[in-house]
Amino acid sequence: MYPSWMSEASCYAFLERIDAELAETARATGCGCGGVLHRATYPRKPRGGPRELGPGYDRRLSFCCARRACRQRRTPPSVRFLGRRVYLGAVVVLVSAMLNGPTPRRVATLGTLLGASRRTLERWRRWWRTTFAETAFWTAAAGRFARPAARGHLPWSLLTRFRGDERTRLVATLRFLAPITTASPRSAMVS
Ligand SMILES: [Zn+2]
Repeated sequence: MYPSWMSEASCYAFLERIDAELAETARATGCGCGGVLHRATYPRKPRGGPRELGPGYDRRLSFCCARRACRQRRTPPSVRFLGRRVYLGAVVVLVSAMLNGPTPRRVATLGTLLGASRRTLERWRRWWRTTFAETAFWTAAAGRFARPAARGHLPWSLLTRFRGDERTRLVATLRFLAPITTASPRSAMVS
């Protein structure tokens, strides 16, 4: 019921390469003040992935302006980390989609699989339908799809707007969501 490719290291290595590209684009752009960006990563201990996640998953890529008078933080978008959530973005999207699709999976089964509490899964479900659905990002982006993605079935309805096999659609969804992942990773982590 939980796709086997979700436990393959290659899947996570692929997402890591995309993050590296997104970070390089941000770094090359530089700071708004004209300053150079220096690497200043955030330590992370992501949950929900396979045991053999690469060491790159121990940190969220981020930069800091080198100019002493500025020191502005710039955290590039990510396909691995969904904002401040401790669970990997891929897991949050896929599991939430399983909960919200037309044939919902049982919360208890998914929770046991991930070591996530029922409360955490319920929080994800609520987050997609309320917080996420009401963001300016989604309000603007939702109109880009030829067939609208039903709010009550997010993120399943979003995932199924993309073409390809399950894994391709998940990566496309994570890329699509990347702009919302840059919000303040400094504040307390949420599951
Ligand atoms: Zn600056």
